[in-house]
Amino acid sequence: MPQTSPADSPSLFPPRETIADVLLPVAVGSAYSYRVPEGMSVEPGDIVVVPLGTRRLLGCVWPRAEGAPTVDPAKLKPIHRKYDVPPLRADMLAFIRWIAEYTVTPPGMVLRLALRHDETRGEGRERTGVRATGRRPERMTAARERLITALADGFVRAKADAAREAGVSPSVVDGLIDDGALETVVLPPEPAAEPPDPDHAVPELLPAQAEAAAELSAAVSARAFKAHLLDGVTGSGKTEAYFEAVATAIREKRQVLILMPEIALTQAFLDRFTRRFGVAPGQWHSAVATKKRSRLFAGVASGEVSVVAGARSALFLPFRDLGLIIVDEEHDGAYKQEDGVHYHARDMAVVRARLVGAPIVLASATPSLETEVNARRRRYTRLHLPERFAGTRVPRLEPIDLRRDGPPKGKWIAPRLVQEMERTIEAGGQSLLFLNRRGYAPLTLCRACGHRIKCPSCSSWLVEHRFRRRLECHQCGYATPVPSECPSCHEPNALIPCGPGVERLHEEVAALLPHARTQVLSSDLAGGVERLRAELKAIEDGEVDVVVGTQLVAKGHNFPGLALVGVIDADVGLGHGDPRAAERTFQLLHQVAGRAGRAQVEGRAFLQTYMPEHPVMQALVAGDRDAFYDREIAVREEAHLPPFARFCALIVSGTDAHAAQAHARALAACSPRAEEVRVLGPAEAPLALVRGRHRFRLLTRAPRGYDLSAYVWRWMAGAPRPTGNLKVEIDIDPQSFL
Ligand code: ADP
Ligand code: ZN
Repeated sequence: MPQTSPADSPSLFPPRETIADVLLPVAVGSAYSYRVPEGMSVEPGDIVVVPLGTRRLLGCVWPRAEGAPTVDPAKLKPIHRKYDVPPLRADMLAFIRWIAEYTVTPPGMVLRLALRHDETRGEGRERTGVRATGRRPERMTAARERLITALADGFVRAKADAAREAGVSPSVVDGLIDDGALETVVLPPEPAAEPPDPDHAVPELLPAQAEAAAELSAAVSARAFKAHLLDGVTGSGKTEAYFEAVATAIREKRQVLILMPEIALTQAFLDRFTRRFGVAPGQWHSAVATKKRSRLFAGVASGEVSVVAGARSALFLPFRDLGLIIVDEEHDGAYKQEDGVHYHARDMAVVRARLVGAPIVLASATPSLETEVNARRRRYTRLHLPERFAGTRVPRLEPIDLRRDGPPKGKWIAPRLVQEMERTIEAGGQSLLFLNRRGYAPLTLCRACGHRIKCPSCSSWLVEHRFRRRLECHQCGYATPVPSECPSCHEPNALIPCGPGVERLHEEVAALLPHARTQVLSSDLAGGVERLRAELKAIEDGEVDVVVGTQLVAKGHNFPGLALVGVIDADVGLGHGDPRAAERTFQLLHQVAGRAGRAQVEGRAFLQTYMPEHPVMQALVAGDRDAFYDREIAVREEAHLPPFARFCALIVSGTDAHAAQAHARALAACSPRAEEVRVLGPAEAPLALVRGRHRFRLLTRAPRGYDLSAYVWRWMAGAPRPTGNLKVEIDIDPQSFL
């Protein structure tokens, strides 16, 4: 906008453009006004640094509200500087606003998800290269000699590479630059990701895949919002089918976002992408180095990066021209963020697709109930892949009734399953035992007095990790050496482990099958993600006979030799009064069973259960997915549970239980009256104590289609502010009821 000349605007009415509203990543309701210094011009979306109190904060120039009061710019603090990066686009600003509104969060807190200091700077993108000039330095040392020899070919190298190649420290490089023996050259920034080639290796698709791919590609070309459920069992070729839509987007020079629940572990996905497109996609998750993330951020904003595979936070990247969003394993619980801004990345991905006018694909073998209902109502287009690509069948699930055919006392693997494992090993196949419990034993108690060892700051038992010789709290991470006597009655050697964890199961396998090569897989594995990748590779290469794993093994890995799956405790997830318990158990066990028999071999799967008559077990055993959904949908509708009703949870916590409870009661008392809305509670949360904070929950229920966010905004506007260390968390569409 042109600056108005001072003559046109008397000082009483300063030109509006000398004032800018800046949204800051802090928990306040609105943007702050700043003066735009002479020589700077800003527009909404620009990323700027402004003073706030004694700090300098990164912020985003926000559209000025119509009729915002005019202030004398002289009274405002000036914007400190403007970053040289593309401004956040209007659709991104709208997205931030939408999420804030929906999740009942100050917009600044949502902005914080989109702008992170180190990643946004756009600095450090250019690199300095060096090249030999041919001049001899005045002083020669052995290190200098090595460096000059290394660069004798006359090629340019990045500074760090030159030093590494010659085995000298970077200061030697600097010394030779000063002496004139080397000269510096500005290198173009390293690309955040190489451009993928849509025609690198085009597969031949099965008819059902081709049909789905054609429909998705057409949706990409149509450049309009449309939601799809890509529905097919594990191994049916969903990935291969949506890759065709990705190829179409690349050909049309548009950008693609692929969200994955557990990106740090999905090396297999990256390899497949590389096989199909020649290069790996841009990657965005917490294990990627900050510098790389910073380059990706800039590359996404400039449009140079065309495909990003990322965890839920990738949803907030500033795409220049987003043409397709894919949410893989859309039912996965990892998409829900449970602290700070409580948002569901799958749902918000649909919102983002709608705001940018692009198609979205939700892919799953076991869709969430919400998505299944949307597909049944035809709000989402269902694309169905009916069979596995390899032609193998999804394994039959067979129940083992623990009431009749269970293992001997103190053991966890039923004789029938042991037999099957022996047979599988003889035939050269792999077995997987699934138990969703980390550590050795979930509970330690005293044989003498019955005392159970609890976490000092949470209401949860401490879990024994025998390998690390400690008791650990899975809520807060508290750890303590296993005591030699009971902390309560001081009886020595009286503590006994109760129940199994994967470590204990592993011990049992080793005793039963002493010659088998075994491996435990859980997120506890010493050595982190790297080690985990190595172990997964070893399993894939057939170097392991029996894998004992937590839900980590259920996700997206391809074990070609896996012939047998045994679910040790199929009932773990049921009960608890969690409305999604049945759905989650069904999804998890279906997925675990689906690991077997993906490639050459037909797989088998066994469920150890005390409730073989439970509808979830029955549906799994009958292999009847639709029966499960039909029944579960009916149950939810009948009981007014999501997606047939809407929930919002308020969690009040504080170190003082009475204060927290009193505040929760005060909130309940001031809830606005509305005929359709019911406020339940407060009640002590099932996890009553976490990290020393006492927790109380209120649950608000409204009919489907009711604007519950608006209701909660109204409620909070009239509610007492939490004092001291009290905290109120707002969780719209809660997934967890703990
Ligand atoms: P899903 O995503 O449904 O689990 P995938 O796309 O991973 O299924 O496919 C399962 C396996 O079959 C993979 O190894 C994949 O490479 C292979 N596959 C699927 N479709 C094709 C195809 N059209 N041509 C070649 N291989 C395919
Ligand atoms: Zn704890």
